[in-house]
Amino acid sequence: MRITVLGSGSRGNAIALQSTSTTILVDAGFPLKELERRAAGAGLSLTGLDAVVLTHEHGDHATGAAALARAAGCPVVATSGTLRALGLNDADIATCELPHGSAIRRGTLDIAACRTSHDAADPVAVAVSDPGTGVRIAIAYDVGRVTVGLTRFLRSVHGLILEANHDDDMLRTGPYPARVRARIAGPTGHLSNRSASDLAAAVCHGDLQTVVLAHLSDRCNRPELAMETVRQALRSKGFRGRLLVAMQDEPVGPIEVGSRQYALNVFG
Ligand SMILES: [Zn+2]
Ligand SMILES: [Zn+2]
Repeated sequence: MRITVLGSGSRGNAIALQSTSTTILVDAGFPLKELERRAAGAGLSLTGLDAVVLTHEHGDHATGAAALARAAGCPVVATSGTLRALGLNDADIATCELPHGSAIRRGTLDIAACRTSHDAADPVAVAVSDPGTGVRIAIAYDVGRVTVGLTRFLRSVHGLILEANHDDDMLRTGPYPARVRARIAGPTGHLSNRSASDLAAAVCHGDLQTVVLAHLSDRCNRPELAMETVRQALRSKGFRGRLLVAMQDEPVGPIEVGSRQYALNVFG
């Protein structure tokens, strides 16, 4: 499978996941024109999109979803709470409900969701699997608190896009008022570099190939700081894959993620 991050941060998120014949965009947190501009810059066409999957309804994840789905002629896939919060239903646009606890198939890819702790109606982390290759990629951001369920959900992935929103010290001494700081660091806010590194270490296994840190705060984090914190935690678990940082203003990728197990079965 192939990951292309069109952008990630508090001003917009959109991540394309592709198999050989299916393309899914997880979140569409930019206006349609901007999504198209970024996709073109990354060599990606959005016209043949198979689904726009949403993690939750906040504007930095969903602002361009309806317009993009309409333009591409594909459904918006989201939990019932997210669809309701956005006021989307089949009368207006094709929608597909993303259930908790079981996967749905779009094209050749399976999409599954796991509830997250965040101040939205029905927010989820999303995992996309290719049954043909066994590759599984998950996206977990806007996560206030790591739960046992989320840790289990992320345990077998080959590619992980993981929130590393803020550095605790930079948030404490940063420009935000106390109320905003409390919301960001609270149990329904965002993951710190420290929490992200603990979670990354907890789900690390021998075939975790790629970790992309995402949704970095541009005021309370620095890419090198997030990288170094998570790198140390992953290294202690024997991680030998790629560690990257998603950017707010420019695409990252395409990043190929395969399954070593699959490669051994096919070629070994
Ligand atoms: Zn967000
Ligand atoms: Zn959010």
